[in-house]
Amino acid sequence: MTNENTLPGTDTAELSGFAALGITGALLKATHAAGFTDPKPIQMQAIPPQLEGRDIFGIAQTGSGKTAAFALPILSKIIGLGTKRRPKTARALILAPTRELAVQIEETIKILAKGAHVSTALVLGGVSRFSQVKKIAPGVDILIATPGRLTDLVREGDLMLADTKWLVLDEGDRMLDMGFINDVRRIAKATAPDRQTALFSATMPDEIAELAKGLLKNPVRIEVAPQSTAAAEIVQSVVLARTKQKRQVLSKMLADEAMHSVIVFSRTKHGADRVTKDLARDGFNAAVIHGNKSQNARQKALNDFREGSVRILVATDIAARGIDVPGISHVVNFDLPDEAESYVHRIGRTGRNGRDGIAITLCDPSENAKLRQVERIIRAKLPVIADHLGSPDPQRDPREKTERHFEPANDREHHGGRRDGRRPASGDNKRFGAKPHGERGPKPQGEGPAAAKPNGSSKPDGFKRFKGNNKRRFGGKRPASRAA
Ligand code: AMP
Repeated sequence: MTNENTLPGTDTAELSGFAALGITGALLKATHAAGFTDPKPIQMQAIPPQLEGRDIFGIAQTGSGKTAAFALPILSKIIGLGTKRRPKTARALILAPTRELAVQIEETIKILAKGAHVSTALVLGGVSRFSQVKKIAPGVDILIATPGRLTDLVREGDLMLADTKWLVLDEGDRMLDMGFINDVRRIAKATAPDRQTALFSATMPDEIAELAKGLLKNPVRIEVAPQSTAAAEIVQSVVLARTKQKRQVLSKMLADEAMHSVIVFSRTKHGADRVTKDLARDGFNAAVIHGNKSQNARQKALNDFREGSVRILVATDIAARGIDVPGISHVVNFDLPDEAESYVHRIGRTGRNGRDGIAITLCDPSENAKLRQVERIIRAKLPVIADHLGSPDPQRDPREKTERHFEPANDREHHGGRRDGRRPASGDNKRFGAKPHGERGPKPQGEGPAAAKPNGSSKPDGFKRFKGNNKRRFGGKRPASRAA
């Protein structure tokens, strides 16, 4: 393929894949510096038609490289525009369902556009509006927003979308789950009628197909497997434990230092707080991230985890998608998610960028039906690697009379562990599959390829989705809680 945009004299590195796809020369240096030399499949498929002005309907997850797939063509086009922006307008609008994803998208765009004089702004709930309004007052090139706050700013006249010629809807199915779909429709309607639109969704429920029909004009349809399925292996297993036992089981697992970077998923915000507190009591420092936390607290928790200053992040499903933290060794599902599909997104936090990962699900008998749903969706039976159901009920254990829970992890004498609590009883490591990367033994029995690579089979076949009940309009009332 030839590239008309390649500047004469650009070096060989810059003549790599992105130049060949038509990305403007002004972006090639930063793209290359970011380590993006060879375009990923989604980028190869999505960039050329977007540069031609086509709409895109992409079935892809975070991890596939979709951010650059939609950002680079938009950046290329914006750089080519000489005209000035009008106040309170945005040339391009990228809608993301969660604040974390929006922040991540802006970070990526800033890296890719380094030195190219393209302005970006974030519009998110949970943080001061004032600075956001100030930032968009002169007009911005690319606005990245969550639908709720954006709706507020449009309603109050702080932002006009009539000049918005590029619209990206990221994680459409997540928007649907979170009840944003009507906001999205209204926002899209307020943008320029001749806009170019890209819609990305990890799955394709009927509502998303409907949305695509309404918003996209003769789109190019692109479907890619998540990048993590290419080489990575996620070894999945189940530990049977009663809800009351889960605290102790978790603390025992975490005493194994091979679990060096762990996300513990909790179904509810309250549950996430409780798990975090219990971990602290058991001597583990964990950060927590969920929808009741302020934006600053959420970002700090994520940064601490990303930088490795805490090795455990407790999260609700809000963190299950979109967040790309490399090197997560383990995902522990403290409980099963309400939606089986969330399981796939949760475990996809590990096994990223071709590295192996381990996913362990703690399952109380009351969660068996949810476990079956998960197994249906991943089309594999998950091996049970430990069964604590026969153990005595901790609340009836005479040693526990003054404690509501099991004894803390740093007092293990009754379980054959060390009193210092840093190492589990021998054999626990193996049981929890917690070997260092590259030293993993044979897979647990019954584990088929689909189990090892579940993301590739995350089909929502026959799976009922929550339909958000969003009655809000521009000028209407905001629901009290919108996020996990
Ligand atoms: P995304 O799906 O956009 O969140 O991207 C997933 C990860 O892949 C991010 O860590 C990106 O920095 C990385 N990435 C995306 N495109 C490329 C590329 N062409 N080469 C190398 N890394 C990439």
